[in-house]
Amino acid sequence: MGALPKQKRSKSKQGRKRAHHFLVPTQLVECSNCGSPRLPHTVCGKCGFYKGEQVIQVREKNSGAQ
Ligand SMILES: [Zn+2]
Repeated sequence: MGALPKQKRSKSKQGRKRAHHFLVPTQLVECSNCGSPRLPHTVCGKCGFYKGEQVIQVREKNSGAQ
């Protein structure tokens, strides 16, 4: 047998523990270049800009060329 709790956890203690069980909404910031929402400290997925510089090339979705 493994370790077992000696006493039943009271409802108030259970509730106090579970008071912190919640999800927080994702924080989004506006891209300084194109204005689309992006995660903080990440490269913008739409324009590929980070800190005012183009750091990645973003492929256009609707372009016919490969
Ligand atoms: Zn952008």
